[in-house]
Amino acid sequence: MTQLERVVSKEEQEVIDYMDELYEKIKARDAHEVEFLQATKMLLNSLVPVFVKNRTYREKNILEQLIEPERIITFRVPWIDDNGKTHVNRGYRVQFNSALGPYKGGLRFHPSVNLSVMKFLALTQIFKNSLTGQPIGGGKGGADFDPKGKSDNEIMRFCQSFMTELYRHIGPDIDVPAGDIGVGKREVGYMFGQYKRIQGAYHAGVLTGKGLNYGGSLGRTEATGYGTIYFVQEMLKDRREDFKNKTVITSGSGNVAIYAMEKAIKLGAKVVACSDSSGYVYDRNGLSLQTIKRIKFSEGARISEYVKTHPEAEYFDDGSKIWSIPCDIALPCATQNEIDEASAKMLVKNGVQVVAEGANMPCSIEAIDVFLENDIMFGPAQAVNAGGVACSSLEMAQNSQRLSWTVEQVDEQLQKIMKTIYSNCKRASNKYDHPGNLVVGANIAGFTKVADTMIEQGVI
Ligand code: NDP
Repeated sequence: MTQLERVVSKEEQEVIDYMDELYEKIKARDAHEVEFLQATKMLLNSLVPVFVKNRTYREKNILEQLIEPERIITFRVPWIDDNGKTHVNRGYRVQFNSALGPYKGGLRFHPSVNLSVMKFLALTQIFKNSLTGQPIGGGKGGADFDPKGKSDNEIMRFCQSFMTELYRHIGPDIDVPAGDIGVGKREVGYMFGQYKRIQGAYHAGVLTGKGLNYGGSLGRTEATGYGTIYFVQEMLKDRREDFKNKTVITSGSGNVAIYAMEKAIKLGAKVVACSDSSGYVYDRNGLSLQTIKRIKFSEGARISEYVKTHPEAEYFDDGSKIWSIPCDIALPCATQNEIDEASAKMLVKNGVQVVAEGANMPCSIEAIDVFLENDIMFGPAQAVNAGGVACSSLEMAQNSQRLSWTVEQVDEQLQKIMKTIYSNCKRASNKYDHPGNLVVGANIAGFTKVADTMIEQGVI
């Protein structure tokens, strides 16, 4: 019997009906929020076992409360380009749940940003943050601004304008944003500068992902990618395996992808392909990370440049085809919905052993079902990529102490956290009769802590 083929009991069917009804209610209210509905459906499906065993959550109507953000802020972000022309973008901050601590979650600057994307990211952030064991609630924000092709001054003016509104909604004990797609150290720096100017005070803990000179944490840049690999290491250990001589594919070539590749290579794997939004590069003998870092970090160029200095590699201009390459470990690290059912089937046919989500929701519901039906080890985003936010929380701790930890101290903490997340997910999946199903394990482990806390705090 695979992880999905189970006989449904009467109690289970009752809960499934309750979840379906709830989902339909949410859908009727926000029918156009496709990504949010997808994340909600995934969550509700995986919480069935815990609702069967614990009636309190249903009696207290905890899901209906949890699924509605505590607060959503949308705002106008006007800015002037280098030619003096005025542009207007839309800014967002979704403050979803503060049961466990101040809202915490990154800011994304990308043209695809809308309320649905913000809400799905903030929802999944709640459970990810809960899994880290750190005292942080869930939030997310960003703008439909495209940083591509913008000058440094344009980026600075945009960040300053964005913070000119956002500042009134955040603070070290209120809401602590960080980076995400399109927001790195440079953008965090400009936003921090503007926050400081407006507040007239130095609140180092208001943002994470800062530069090292003003409260940033060593190891934060690498944390999501490294954490992804630490998590996969634990998955492999369960099958008495490790990274040595494994063939790895990583989509994307940004922050998460590059440091995942770095750690995988260090542990003896061969990374044969990576991508950007234009296409992917493939070299059966392994890619040069040094070249990828030069292209992406130093030159800010396209991944297609790779073949200019490595003629033995091939470039293909359809990034979605990257999953047709045979590999042992697939790490989607670019963006949401990169792996659909067809790509998942292709990966399975080609013998993939592990799929772990470095990005947020990169696999569709149907793709995840394909992996689970075929007993592929599957690591869901809220667990796999939690290393980034965990390290952000360590940055907040250092800011409160007014101390800086060494990179070794941070990395040791990160490894511990990732191991604990893995064992908690595994324990929850076993406890609720879904052994090996880390989607169920991660959502239940993350959810129960938040739900129990909401009940304790009398939010209801
Ligand atoms: P970056 O902006 O550094 O990199 C994103 C990468 O993905 C780039 O190579 C980009 O290519 C590529 N990409 C973006 N959109 C698409 C697309 N539609 N198709 C194919 N490739 C695409 O972002 P991060 O590495 O920081 O984030 C990647 C993912 O990881 C996101 O889902 C993010 O939410 C998640 N994440 C990030 C964390 C962090 O600490 N940074 C923490 C936890 C999760 P191009 O340059 O062409 O746009």
